[in-house]
Amino acid sequence: MLVIGGGLAGLASAVALAEAGIEVRLVEKRPHLGGRATSYTLPDGVEVDNCQHVTLGCCTNLEDFYRRAGAAEKIRFYDRLYFVDRIGRRYTMEAWRWLPPPLHMAPSFVGFGALSLADKRSIARAMLAIARSGGQPPRVESASMLDWLHRMHQTPDAISRFWRVVLVSALDEELDRTDARYGIDVFWKAFLGSRGGYRVGIPSVPLADLYEGCRESIAGRGGRVGLRSGVREIRVRDGKFTGALLEDGSEVTADACVLAVPHTVVPGLLPKEMTEAGGALAGLRNIPTSPITGVHLWFDRPVMKEPFLTLLDHTTQWVFNKTLLYGESGGRGQYLQLVISASYDLVPRTRQEIIDLCRGELGEVLPASCEAQLEKATVVKEVAATFSPRPGIDQWRPPQKSAVANLYLAGDWTRTGWPSTMEGAVRSGYLAAEAVLTGFGRPRSFLQPDLPLEGFSKMWAKPVVSGVS
Ligand SMILES: Cc1cc2nc3c(=O)[nH]c(=O)nc-3n(C[C@H](O)[C@H](O)[C@H](O)COP(=O)(O)OP(=O)(O)OC[C@H]3O[C@@H](n4cnc5c(N)ncnc54)[C@H](O)[C@@H]3O)c2cc1C
Repeated sequence: MLVIGGGLAGLASAVALAEAGIEVRLVEKRPHLGGRATSYTLPDGVEVDNCQHVTLGCCTNLEDFYRRAGAAEKIRFYDRLYFVDRIGRRYTMEAWRWLPPPLHMAPSFVGFGALSLADKRSIARAMLAIARSGGQPPRVESASMLDWLHRMHQTPDAISRFWRVVLVSALDEELDRTDARYGIDVFWKAFLGSRGGYRVGIPSVPLADLYEGCRESIAGRGGRVGLRSGVREIRVRDGKFTGALLEDGSEVTADACVLAVPHTVVPGLLPKEMTEAGGALAGLRNIPTSPITGVHLWFDRPVMKEPFLTLLDHTTQWVFNKTLLYGESGGRGQYLQLVISASYDLVPRTRQEIIDLCRGELGEVLPASCEAQLEKATVVKEVAATFSPRPGIDQWRPPQKSAVANLYLAGDWTRTGWPSTMEGAVRSGYLAAEAVLTGFGRPRSFLQPDLPLEGFSKMWAKPVVSGVS
């Protein structure tokens, strides 16, 4: 069995297949595993994440994957969310134990001082519409999230200081370019359906350290992982996968293949008739991408107390206190990582312009950073960080079972119902592994259920049964 691509989708399918007793050969172009969710060493020896990655309590498949990879204890979950506005005022949000979903966050929400009473009333109305419909309110089809929010009469501040704050980070896209179904799903799964869906999970180690167990799991079942092993071409003859040509000129044959590379790479590897007009995968060209910018700043002294902060009314969206998150004392200094999703405006700007912008904003929310010395800074622009969840995007996302009998697809861009996230990638890997095993006549399931619904959300999600049968 050949798996091409060592990102989360490829790793999840490889680990699942190995557990099912299949000998897997995984080939990865780069010198490390993890794809977009990885870390690497800078020339001065410091290891940095490609970008801070967070998971949520509702990401049940990612949690399962970390468990299989022996990395679950390296993810720490936080129950309290921290917000800060332009003048440095702090707010927190957390679930209340004795209130049933979807009301469990209501007390925090009522006390959230960054929104007026009118903003909160409009948000509560829209949230109730989501919860009472079991996450499927009417008039969502083909609408953008912004269209839907306008239909729900949301105030301008509710949109900019609440909906946009949550969704641009979660979906890496602006509200007018986001399919309403994706936006609504975030609130249903993370904030309304269950008590723990919103909890933020953050690795306490550099991302690449999470995947060591995958290598062992694959090797332990007779398989192997090849790094710096890029595939140049996938060979298909008479509607069957026959092998892959590697960049070093060698050829790999296998009974079946899971292709788990980014969707932008797929057309360069497969025969043209599959990916050009009329081909089964021609739609991949209609899936646009969106950027994320990560800014790494090393200060000579501590400037932040919280583990992480969400910024309101700023270009910078999140600040992560990496020193604290790694459980280090930090000596005398502090390492912060800032994240800006859907960072279209920053793509053309220089590294220094971005650092200056972020430092200016940090000064407003972390006054101690104004006095501190910036010892080092790195900017990572990921121009094609995720696929953009545009209205109607699902029609272009292919299933994991391809038109070629023994060729399977995995990747956050395949049809999972989830946006471009680690959870989506792992789901795709599990679905691809299930399809492979069904093809081999040894069906097995890996996909994990969503968190169980609780409280009123559970009641409302059930179809209304009338007394007449
Ligand atoms: C900056 C940034 C921040 C993000 N933040 C979050 C977050 O906080 N939470 C979250 O859930 N998600 C986040 N994401 C999204 C998440 O990283 C992705 O959805 C997920 O990692 C995608 O996994 P994948 O396996 O589908 O693809 P990839 O990770 O892209 O894996 C594909 C792999 O294929 C390899 N490959 C490519 N071409 C070849 C070839 N020819 N031969 C062999 N191998 C090849 C690549 O090197 C790569 O390792 C973020 C993404 C970025 C970029």
